[in-house]
This record gives sequence, structure tokens and C-alpha cells, in this order.
Amino acid sequence: KPRILDDEEGGVLFLASSISSTSSGYGYASIEKQRLRLPVYKYRTAILYLVETHATTVIVGETGSGKTTQIPQYLKEAGWADGGRVIACTQPRRLAVQAVASRVAEEMGVKLGEEVGYTIRFEDLANSGVTMIKFLTDGVLLREMMDDPLLTKYSVIMVDEAHERSISTDILLGLLKKIQRRRPELRLIISSATIEAKSMSAFFQTSKRRRGLEADELGPRKDPAILSVEGRGFNVQIHYVEEPVADYVRAAVSTVLSIHDQEPPGDSLVFLTGQDDIDAAVQLLTEEAQANGKKNSSGLIVLPLYSGLSRMEQDLVFSPTPRGKRKVVISTNIAETSLTLEGIVYVVDSGFSKQRFYNPISDVENLVVAPISKASARQRAGRAGRIRPGKCYRLYTEEYFINEMPAQGIPEMQRSNLVSCVIQLKALGIDNILGFDWPASPAPEAMIRALEVLYSLGVLDDDAKLTSPVGFQAAEIPLDPMIAKMMLSSSQLGCSEEIITIAAVLSIQSIWVSTKAQKELDEAKLRFAAVEGDHVTFLNVYQGFLRSGKSSQWCHKNFVNYHAMKKVIEIREQLRRIALRIGIVLKSCERDMLVVRKAVTAGFFANACNLEAYSHNGMYKTVRGSQEVYIHPSSVLFRVNPKWVIYQSLVSTDRQYMRNVITIDPSWLTEAAPHFFQHQRPDPIGR
Ligand code: ADP
Ligand code: MG
Repeated sequence: KPRILDDEEGGVLFLASSISSTSSGYGYASIEKQRLRLPVYKYRTAILYLVETHATTVIVGETGSGKTTQIPQYLKEAGWADGGRVIACTQPRRLAVQAVASRVAEEMGVKLGEEVGYTIRFEDLANSGVTMIKFLTDGVLLREMMDDPLLTKYSVIMVDEAHERSISTDILLGLLKKIQRRRPELRLIISSATIEAKSMSAFFQTSKRRRGLEADELGPRKDPAILSVEGRGFNVQIHYVEEPVADYVRAAVSTVLSIHDQEPPGDSLVFLTGQDDIDAAVQLLTEEAQANGKKNSSGLIVLPLYSGLSRMEQDLVFSPTPRGKRKVVISTNIAETSLTLEGIVYVVDSGFSKQRFYNPISDVENLVVAPISKASARQRAGRAGRIRPGKCYRLYTEEYFINEMPAQGIPEMQRSNLVSCVIQLKALGIDNILGFDWPASPAPEAMIRALEVLYSLGVLDDDAKLTSPVGFQAAEIPLDPMIAKMMLSSSQLGCSEEIITIAAVLSIQSIWVSTKAQKELDEAKLRFAAVEGDHVTFLNVYQGFLRSGKSSQWCHKNFVNYHAMKKVIEIREQLRRIALRIGIVLKSCERDMLVVRKAVTAGFFANACNLEAYSHNGMYKTVRGSQEVYIHPSSVLFRVNPKWVIYQSLVSTDRQYMRNVITIDPSWLTEAAPHFFQHQRPDPIGR
């Protein structure tokens, strides 16, 4: 009979260093055995045959069946990487790219970055001429098309996690369909965890007339093959709550504790939405453990899982659980299908995830904690049945699941701002964007908004073609076009060194440590706070970090995230290289923050907001759409409430909050984008 062994020390082992890392955990033979046991192994010959004979193969298989880690290896073993060719496998998420690449390198017994490599934005661990299997984000593959439109170095491109329908995946599918016509030798594999095979296959089906014409040609069949890998998931018992829960973080924590108290050994996986609520849950579990002493939560190893974790933290999540311990992984929806964790028997599903939503009427895009779909809920539950029958605790009622939860999610393409998407397609020479062959058509209003913003940024001309040089330069910068424009303007304004630092900071999640000690963090921030706002505050932190000799103690003392700062330095170096290549003049403005603010305005004028006259609670209205917004408590301008500000992004909880805020002079807006403010001229007196 299974029993829970007590942890001698008591309390929660958080980031326990006693867990051995994956690489030392298994020997080579054992990995070979694991490979043979995976469900896809039985389909190895079939997969290779279909890929050989069909231009496109759609493969559907349960999460954990071995699609991502095995298929690229089978292809390599069959010779698809011979003669300097490369097998590509795309993932929507950066963390998945890293984790999967390192697993495959380990299985093949090679050093990551050689035969097996990966590329994500600002991090290239692939070696041209050596790398045979390359994992990359779908976004990076799109970028590669700017230098090599037909992606000639790849023999097979596996578009993985296609069911996620990320915006880059959808653009990629549309473009790959075009490339196929020019490169009959290219093979595509579209793989996913859920049954969307029919519509994917229909998308790649060439029309009857074309097929007739090509009937006599040699080469692969143009109609896609579909292969379904039989999984071997165990039964998962579903539990619902009786009444809706008020606070899903607390509900998740108490569910974890009662599982630990009452259920036999087996790891737990909790689905929350993002770094904030995950850190809160980790903290609560730790506190709970301390309060209860040995009784309740000893033997728990609590680990967070979200993008932006350091390498060591990632490794811990995948490490085997030591005997007598129970691992609890608290994750975003990255563990839904992208990553497989061994040993999970219990799943706790909050019913929510962070999703992007865009309103083309108000031109406001934000990240919202929103209900997941039934399809996602089933995937989440499935994670409990990998090694033996498991249990899934849904923190919502059965009635809600049946009657209110949407059946499918909406493709990201249909709920995003399309500015980045349009500039990329334009840069690839796709002129008729509305007529493009999309797997899911974007809303025409969103498309028109994107064209309008790009026109105002000076990236597109009257004929909706990229302008020279600004449009072409902006397309070269692998960041949001608004950030790209900010960088380009900084060249003329003489503050590119500062703006590049700001761009680097804006591309990572946060430079502050996440801590419960909010008061201490706020005090630390005050040491760097600038009256101009967050962007200038970032410059102060960066300067301080450099002056400290990039010291980790300095970071610790100031509540600055050391890993984040090292990342900023790395990204900054890459951005400087790109800047030099496209002709941005590298220059520092020393202490002249006026030009820095003007450069920010040149890129982000569309996010300008005005404090409501007579507002006592800090309510702003966006200049463009008259949306109610507030300064986020994490901003140094929180409670300062200057009259005119520009934000970088919005997050939505109880209200719409502006993140990363800087003060501006309203006269700069019409200067930066006369066309954009033609109809809603900001009040020049500034009320
Ligand atoms: P799929 O893509 O079909 O969801 P994967 O190829 O990702 O499946 O995973 C196959 C198996 O490989 C998993 O069941 C897991 O046992 C193992 N695996 C994958 N990634 C890792 C990792 N980073 N560490 C340890 N095992 C892993
Ligand atoms: Mg996979």
C-alpha cells in the first residue's frame, strides 16, 4: 500500500538542490529504452513513408506521445539532414523550444548547439553547417524568411503545436503553402495534440484543377496525408467544485494541500495564468507549510513554471521527484500541451489562462485573464493520466463546464493587434494582405487599424508599400514596430544608446525581483525613480548595474533581478548590432531626457492618454479611443498622475492598467503623427 513518507526536515522544500539534474539522472541505455516505449515509435515507418511520399503530413497525437522529441530524430536517422540540410521544428513558445531541444540533444548524446540546436529571439544556439535538427519559435522562422524567402536550407519543416493557432503559426502556414509551390522537394509536417486534422488538411489541399494538371508530374503527392497516433492515456477522474470559487489562487492552494493530505503519492500539476498568481500560490503554499509544521505539507516540493525562468529552475521542473517527496508544479498553460512532465497524477485546473484580446474599434490590446475552452480543459485533465489513472480537480462547477465554457478557443489572429503581422508580410513582399490565404481570416477592421498605425509610423506609404528607408529598417528590427520606430527616431534625436537600453528592458518581463515584500520593493524602486517615468527609471537602474560592475549583490540589495539584467545586457548588444547594420547612429544624449521622451513618443503616440479633468481617482482616457485606463501600481508614476502620459502596454484585471508609463508634452503628439490625430486633436493646453 502506498504511503507518504515524511520529510525529516519538515516544511516545504522549495527549489531543493538535492534533486539530481536530468542529465545525470539517466544513463544512455535507459533513454534508448524510453524512446522505444513512446507511442509514436510504433508509427516510425509509417511516418517516414508518408513524409517521403506526401508534400504535407498532418500528425495528431496525444501530448507526451513523442511527436516533438522523436519525429525530428526519425527524420534525421532516415537521412533528411544529409548533405548539409536541416530539419526544423517550430514551437509557439520560447521555453518549449529550449526544453525540447535540450531533451533531444540529451537523447542523442550530443552537445546542445551542435547537431541539435535552437534559436529563439535574441538567443541563437544553432551552428550552421553542423546543426541537423533545429528547434525554433514560429516567429523566428518567419524572420528567417526575410533573408531566405524560400527557407532553402530546410528539408523538412515541422510546424508543431498547430492546434494552438498562435498568430505566427497561422502566418507561417499561409506562407509555407506558397513556398511549397516553388519547392516541391520541401516536406511539411503539421503536428498537434487535438483533432483539427481535417481543417488543417483541407487548408493544404490544392484545388482539383491543379491536382489534375500535376497528375503526371513526378514527386510527392500534393494532397496531405493524415496520421493519428494512438495514445495510451489512463483514465482520469474529474472532480468539480460545488459552488463557484471566489479566489482561484487560494482554492488551488487548498486543493493541493488536501490532495497531499489524502491522496497516495504522485505529483501534482496546477494550472494558473501567469507569473503573478503562480508566485502568489508558491508563496501561500510555503507559508501554509510553515504554519502547519510537519503535519500537513512536509515532503512537498513546490516549483513554478512560466517563461522567463532561469535554466536551473527549468531543470528542476523536469527532474525526477526524489523518493518520498511530492512535486507540485504550478504552471501557466505551457504545461497544457507544449511540455510533458513525468509523474503527474493530479491536476488542478483553475479554468483560466492569460489571453491576448484586441478591440479594433478602440485600438486597445491587452492581456486578460480569461476562461479557457473545453478543448483546453480536456487537455489539462489529460496530463493526470500519463503514468497511471489520475484525478483532475476543476475549480469551476460542472454546470459551468457544460453550459458556459466555449468549445474551442479563438485563434490568436482574430484577437490580436496586427501591426507586427502586417509589417512582416509587407517585408516578405506580400502586398495583397486582405487577399492572403489565411488559415483563419483576421477581422478586416483590425487589418485596417494596423495599416493605419503603420502609415502613421511612416512605415507604409500611400500605396501601403514599405517606405524607404524607414519601413525597411523597421522591418529588420525583431521587435514591435512601435519600438522599432522609437529606435529609428532616436537616431535623429541623438539618444540611440539610451533608447536601445529601454528597448532591451521593454522586451523582458520585468527587471524587478518578484517578492512578497512589496514595501521594500517600492522603497528600492524609489532609489531609481525618475519624475519622467518608468523608461527613465530603467535607465537609472541600468546605469547603477553597470557602475556596480554588474554585481549580483548590488541587484540583491536593490530588489533588481540579476538574471533579467544580464539578459538586458545581452539583448542590448544584439540590438546595437542590428542598429549598426541598418544605419542607426549610435550616440548618447548624456542626461538630456527630453529627447528620450520625444523618441518614445515617436513610436508610441498611439498609446497617449490624458488625465481626466476633475478625476480624483487617477482615471485617464486614451486619446484615440476614449478608453478608461489607470496607471499600474508597479509604475513609478502611480499616484503621481501627470496630465499627459504614454504607456507601453495595458493589463486588465479589475480595471485597465497602463504598464511602463512616461510623461509627455501633448504638442509632441501632433508633431509625431499629424495624420493619426487629425480627427481627435489632443487639447494643446493640456487641460
Ligand atoms: P509530444 O510532443 O507528443 O507531446 P514529447 O516528444 O514532447 O511528446 O515527449 C515525449 C516524452 O519525452 C515525454 O513523455 C517525456 O517522457 C519525455 N520528455 C520530453 N521532454 C523531456 C524533458 N525535458 N525531460 C525529461 N523527459 C522529457
Ligand atoms: Mg510536443
